[in-house]
Amino acid sequence: MGAMSTWKVWITGVFLAVFLTDRLTNAIAFRRENITTTLGPQLSNGAQIILPHNAGFVQATQRWSLFDPPHFTAVVEVGTEEDIATTVKFANKNNIPFLAVTGSHGTIACLGKFNGIEIRMRKLNSTVISEDGKTATFGGGKRSGEVIEALWAAGKQTVSGICECTGFLGPALGGGHGVLQGKYGIASDQFVSMRMVTADGAIREVSSSGPNSDLWWAMQGAGHNFGIVTSITSKVYDVPDGGLWSYETYVFSYDKVEAVFETINWLAQHQPPGMFNRDVIYRNPSVDPKNPILQVDLLQESVSAVAPNFTSPFRKLGPMSVGSGSGTYKDIPKWTGVNFNSIACNVADTSKIRFPIGLVSYNATAQQALMDTFSQVIGPDSPFNVSQVLFEGYSMYGVKAVPDNATAFPHRGDNQLVTVAMVNAPRPELDAQAVRIGNKLRQVLLEGSGSTELHAYVNYAAGTESLQNLYGFEPWRLKRLKELKAKYDPQDRFGYYAPIPV
Ligand SMILES: Cc1cc2nc3c(=O)[nH]c(=O)nc-3n(C[C@H](O)[C@H](O)[C@H](O)COP(=O)(O)OP(=O)(O)OC[C@H]3O[C@@H](n4cnc5c(N)ncnc54)[C@H](O)[C@@H]3O)c2cc1C
Repeated sequence: MGAMSTWKVWITGVFLAVFLTDRLTNAIAFRRENITTTLGPQLSNGAQIILPHNAGFVQATQRWSLFDPPHFTAVVEVGTEEDIATTVKFANKNNIPFLAVTGSHGTIACLGKFNGIEIRMRKLNSTVISEDGKTATFGGGKRSGEVIEALWAAGKQTVSGICECTGFLGPALGGGHGVLQGKYGIASDQFVSMRMVTADGAIREVSSSGPNSDLWWAMQGAGHNFGIVTSITSKVYDVPDGGLWSYETYVFSYDKVEAVFETINWLAQHQPPGMFNRDVIYRNPSVDPKNPILQVDLLQESVSAVAPNFTSPFRKLGPMSVGSGSGTYKDIPKWTGVNFNSIACNVADTSKIRFPIGLVSYNATAQQALMDTFSQVIGPDSPFNVSQVLFEGYSMYGVKAVPDNATAFPHRGDNQLVTVAMVNAPRPELDAQAVRIGNKLRQVLLEGSGSTELHAYVNYAAGTESLQNLYGFEPWRLKRLKELKAKYDPQDRFGYYAPIPV
C-alpha cells in the first residue's frame, strides 16, 4: 500500500471515530433528555423522576444488602398502574433495563448485572377489602407490615412474610413463607387475581380463568420473571380469638444440638396448623464466648401460654435459659426481630448473602456437623462472626393441601427451611469468602439429607444455585416455565431476579 492510500485510510478512520463518538454522545444525551422531557410529561401527577444528582436518589436506591446490588441510573417513582406501563414502554423503546423495587430486600447475585431504571412501587399502597370480607386487593407497592396493619384494623389477616419491611409481593411471587401457612397455605396460595404489566408494556388481568390464565400458574412461585404486579387480590380471614399468640424461647448450648433437632423433628409431626418454630445458630459472646449457641422459639396461636405437651420435651433437654410471653399476631415480627424498628429492617452497610436448603426432616448428626463446621469456620474473631443459620419450621397442613403441580412453587414436600445467612463488610474478597463458607455449610446439610437434589427457596437464594435448585427438578416444570417465558418475555426484560433463560 502506498503512502497516499495509508493516509486516506487513516483520515477515514479518524472521521469514522469522530462520527461514531458524536452519535454515541448524542445517544446518551438523547437518553438523558428522554427520561425527564419525554417520559416525564407522560406520567401521572403523583409520579416523580429522581436522577442521581437529585435529593432523594440515595434513599430511593438503598438496599438491604450491599452484596452484588443492582445499579440504578434513574428512579421512576410511579403513582399509577399506567405510569408503570408507560415507563416499561419508554424503557423498551430506548433499550434501557428496568427493575421493580418495593421493599429493597431482594439479594441474589444476578441483580448485580442490572444497570438501568428503578420502577419504585411504594406509592401503590392501597387496601380495599371486599364487601363479603373474603378477599382484599392491595396495591403492588405494599410492604408486608402494611398489609398486616391494614387487615388488622378490619379484624382480618392473610399469609404474608413475617418481616414487616419486605415487600408483600417480593416474597409472595416466589411462594411466600409465613406464620399462617399451616392454616391457609403459602402467600401465593391466597392469590385470587392480579393486574400486572408484562414485558411489552401491556396491562393484563391475570387469574385462573380468562385470556392470560396460562400465566397464573407461573405467577405463584416464579412470578418475578413475568411482569410487574400492580395490584393483587388475595383471600383474607377473620382473626380468631382476638389474635392471641404466645411464645416460649430457649437457649441451648453447643452440646445439645443433636437432641434439640431430634425434638424439632418430633414437633414437626405434631405441631397444629396455628403453630411454628423458628430457630437460629449464632454467636453470642455474652452467653458463650467460645462456641455458637442454638436458640429455639416456639410460637402458638389462640393460647395464653404455649401448650405444655410442646414445651416440656424442650425444657427436659436442659436449656441454658427459658423465656416466654404472649401478645397478638401483630407482635410476632417484634418477637422474631423483623419488625419495622429492628436491625433487620434498617438498611445497614453490610453485605448479606443467604444459602437456603429445604429439608424433609433433620438429620441430627448432620445438624451437629453443621454446628461444628460453623464453629470452626466462623470463629469469634472472624469477619463473619455475626452470621447465622436460620431454621424455619412452619406447620405444613395448608401448604400440602394444595396439589404439588398446581403452582410453580416446587418445594411443598420440604417441612424445614434452613438458611445460612452470611454477613460481612462489603469487600469483594470477603464476599467471595462468604460464598465459599455459605456453600460449604449448606453442603453439610445436603449430604446429611441423603438426597443429591438441593432445594433452594428462590427468595433466599444466593445466585449460585441452578435452575433446578430454584424451580424444581421435574423436567415438566422447567419446560413449562421456559415456554411461558418465551411467550410473555421473549426479550428477557425480567432477567435479573432468579431469571429463567428464554
Ligand atoms: C429480613 C428478611 C426477612 C424475610 N422474611 C421472609 C419471610 O418471612 N417469608 C418469605 O417468603 N421471604 C422472606 N424474606 C425474603 C424475601 O422474600 C425476599 O428478600 C424478597 O426479594 C423481598 O422483596 P422486596 O420487595 O422487599 O425486595 P425488592 O428488592 O424490592 O424486590 C425483590 C424482587 O422482586 C421483584 N418485585 C418487587 N416488587 C414487585 C412487584 N410489585 N411486581 C413484580 N415483581 C416485583 C423484583 O424482581 C425485585 O428485584 C425475607 C428477607 C429478609 C431480608
